[in-house]
Amino acid sequence: MESLKKKKDRVKHIFEILDPLYTYEKTALDYRTPIELLIATILSAQCTDRQVNEVTKSLFKKYRKAEDYVQAPISELEMDIRPTGFYKNKAKSLKGCCRALLDLYGGVVPATMEELLKLPGVGRKTANCVLGAVFNVPGVVVDTHVKRLALRLGLTNQDQPDKIELDLQQLLPPEQWRRFSDILIYHGRAICKARNPDHTRCPIFNLCPSHTLTVIQSSNSAARKV
Ligand code: SF4
Repeated sequence: MESLKKKKDRVKHIFEILDPLYTYEKTALDYRTPIELLIATILSAQCTDRQVNEVTKSLFKKYRKAEDYVQAPISELEMDIRPTGFYKNKAKSLKGCCRALLDLYGGVVPATMEELLKLPGVGRKTANCVLGAVFNVPGVVVDTHVKRLALRLGLTNQDQPDKIELDLQQLLPPEQWRRFSDILIYHGRAICKARNPDHTRCPIFNLCPSHTLTVIQSSNSAARKV
């Protein structure tokens, strides 16, 4: 089994190779205020950032404060966010989140993980996005890409995002947590896709146990065919 030290060295190399390849973006979601980022992040579940940005262009003109989401009729809010998908659940989440934001924090987005997690619809992924982008608090964001790549790269054997987050935190200094999440997201979209990861174009293939496994599996199956 790979020691923690060896794994840390491997992650350091992966970081050094991928970091220059993917340009830095604070977040691909458009927002001007903490509450806008919170709303956009909730809407981004199962939806592309581009689609969310399309919707929030007009949404953020109409809804400016937590009160606006609380007071809007749910059917109207549903129609306003419909193109982001799962709009009924998301409208409920937005209303619940904004209600709690008002009741607990006077409508101001709080700056700690503990406080953010008290808001309905806000999990660690959303909280880490908001904390990192708005308050510069280090955090590992575990979305579907980060989860897939962390498993393929052998950086975790956990299935739960909270546990994957802890495993990744051990491997890098806090100042690199957020950037490493972003790098994995970009690499997951560009090369290491859910279906058909492009091992041959992958610049970290020799640091990836999944690649080695694939080579062994394909040579075994080639040998069986002979
Ligand atoms: S070698 Fe393959 S599995 Fe590993 S990171 Fe690259 S594309 Fe993904």
